[in-house]
Amino acid sequence: MPSLEQLHFDNTYARLPPGFSARVPPSPFRDAHLVSVSPEALRLLELAPSEARRPEFIQAFGGLRPLPGMEPVATVYAGHQFGVYVPRLGDGRALLLGEVRTSTGERWELSLKGSGLTPFSRMGDGRAVLRSTLREYLCSEAMHGLGIPTTRALCIIGGSEKVYREEEETGAMLVRMAPSHVRFGTFEYFHHTGHPEHVATLADYVIARHFPHLQGGPERYSRFFAEVVERTARLVAQWQAVGFAHGVLNTDNMSILGLTLDYGPFGFLDDFEPGFICNHSDDFGRYAFDKQPRIALWNLACLGEALLTLMTEEEAQAALQAFSPAFTSHFLARMREKLGLREPRPEDQSLLETLITLLADGRVDYTRFFRMLGRFDSSAEARNEPLRDGFLDTAGFDTWAAAYRARLLAEGSVDAERRARMDRVNPKYVLRNYLAQTAITRAQEGDFSEVDRLLAVLSRPFDEQPEHEASAAPPPAWGKHLSVSCSS
Ligand code: AMP
Ligand code: MG
Repeated sequence: MPSLEQLHFDNTYARLPPGFSARVPPSPFRDAHLVSVSPEALRLLELAPSEARRPEFIQAFGGLRPLPGMEPVATVYAGHQFGVYVPRLGDGRALLLGEVRTSTGERWELSLKGSGLTPFSRMGDGRAVLRSTLREYLCSEAMHGLGIPTTRALCIIGGSEKVYREEEETGAMLVRMAPSHVRFGTFEYFHHTGHPEHVATLADYVIARHFPHLQGGPERYSRFFAEVVERTARLVAQWQAVGFAHGVLNTDNMSILGLTLDYGPFGFLDDFEPGFICNHSDDFGRYAFDKQPRIALWNLACLGEALLTLMTEEEAQAALQAFSPAFTSHFLARMREKLGLREPRPEDQSLLETLITLLADGRVDYTRFFRMLGRFDSSAEARNEPLRDGFLDTAGFDTWAAAYRARLLAEGSVDAERRARMDRVNPKYVLRNYLAQTAITRAQEGDFSEVDRLLAVLSRPFDEQPEHEASAAPPPAWGKHLSVSCSS
């Protein structure tokens, strides 16, 4: 395994034309320390766990002493924020440190968030707080554990520097990893500043590295856009199926690779509430849970417009029209798995819709319901009390349960086998807000053990982990309606 110093950097993004990024050195913390490191992310970089214990690791990822080959740059982008176009955003508090190429040819961009001022900081201080870096760190690794495309997180570096948000908070830096951090807003920036040649350069760059099968073909740009539509539809279907609300679906937070990107005031549903708004600054509920599919399509239309110098209006429209059917088909497939159904049948949609209404009316805990549904007893006399007791409308549940039972029998489902299948798709553990908050409070007191414990639990969300049973509990009263702000 290579040592830190042997990581192979090949910084292709930094070599794009000058307008794409600005060289900026990070502003390190004076007394940096390691808060937590993800063993899985270390493995992706082919680094031995012992490398993270070296002072050089903290120096490199705390911005004090770059590793050989790193070339920190801040990238430029724009974006529609809450529906309003903001012509210039960019990495205001993050730096692309470089791209690591592993022995298998995989490439990982390393991005340091909270690394200080850049030309794109606008009114911000270039910093991030421990609270928000912990939320992003835990959630990105948890999403990966759930099988949902996401940026990854390598580590958090803490410092004693104070950062001012609504109150004084501890600062921290997060090292994020992704094959690419290019956003819809990166394309929008070059389009709206009147640089079609840069739109083409960026599209060629992304296609060559991430959509190589499209390279050279005559309709490569429209096919590229169609694939982004498809990936985004699939991603949002996965969010809806697991009960995840992103919170700030601005076009600058939309990944061109269809990854979950830029974790802010996100939330997993506890009680099932379709109109759940996790961001307390989102006054009109633009980014409410059940609006995510529509918003994703709206964002894709912005991307389509930014690509109109590369494809025709008709091609853009055709690609956008594929969104809704793709979303519905992915969503139904995921939900069928969650229900333990193997064969698609026409009645599935109404079975699902009735269930969703019942869950919403009874404010039933979403994650626990599906996990428990794996234990549904399909014998004629079974009353399935533990499940039934979760509903307000128990008669409604009984009617639904009878239809579900009939549906299972119709495909010759065997309870034990079905349960095993369902346990592989219905997580036992998700990053509920109260779990994150407990880890944050302890970390703010200097105890990082809960962060590491939670990280390990959430990396295996489908496994029964009896010693961590408490982390599968619904939120306590104080943890039910934690409001999470954009300020991070
Ligand atoms: P976000 O809401 O975190 O996705 O950020 C939106 C934009 O504001 C991005 O361009 C960020 O780089 C920038 N930004 C957010 N927080 C800060 C900060 N504390 N300092 C500088 N820029 C920031
Ligand atoms: Mg952002």
